[in-house]
Amino acid sequence: METGTAVNHVPHTSAEGSTGVQQSKARRWDVKRDDYLSWDEYFMAVAFLSAQRSKDPRTQVGACIVNCENKIVGIGYNGMPVGCSDDVMPWVNWDGVSNILETKQLYVCHAELNAVLNKNSADVKHCRIYVALFPCNECAKVIIQSGIKEVIYYSNKYGFKDECIAARRLFDVAGVKYRQYQPERKQIVIDFSAVDVVQWTPPSNSVPSTRPALNGDQVPKNVSAQDLSSVSLSQT
Ligand SMILES: [Zn+2]
Repeated sequence: METGTAVNHVPHTSAEGSTGVQQSKARRWDVKRDDYLSWDEYFMAVAFLSAQRSKDPRTQVGACIVNCENKIVGIGYNGMPVGCSDDVMPWVNWDGVSNILETKQLYVCHAELNAVLNKNSADVKHCRIYVALFPCNECAKVIIQSGIKEVIYYSNKYGFKDECIAARRLFDVAGVKYRQYQPERKQIVIDFSAVDVVQWTPPSNSVPSTRPALNGDQVPKNVSAQDLSSVSLSQT
């Protein structure tokens, strides 16, 4: 029962939870969650979140390198080399006809390369890499040379291109495994306001509830849909 305030602290129940999961039943505050992210979901989502840093108007790709202890050791996204201003370099996509020197193709560092170069460990040997798109041949070389042993990709929409065909050939010969990510949910929503929800377990095993707001509580402001940052795993 809500008393003492005009602001209702509504627990995430039939709406979306903090991970954007559609829940069919009310959440118990005193029982372990069973809708938490799997490792694959977590690391692929990190890759997709990283992609949102990209300035590329057409393709935003992120990559996340993980070691055998499920610890992240490198993150990257596609972008211009350090010191090459995003405002000076071209972002036009090469169409095969125009002057390639005035397109992004010859200048952009792909997400996989940046993730390897950004590593926070001595090396990335025996690691796996999560990436939104199946790697191109240039990134395949970097992946193989750095010692990464598995590629988990979300989309293979450019798989027909020579760059991806060559990459598969390189992976097959070098013994690097690759598999397509199997999404367990369509999207993961990051709702910053969820942390402000006041959670309280009633003394009996009755229905989930919230307690009345007390003096000193942080009362969350009303958050509109526009305030929510969404990272969709269905966009590549
Ligand atoms: Zn590449």
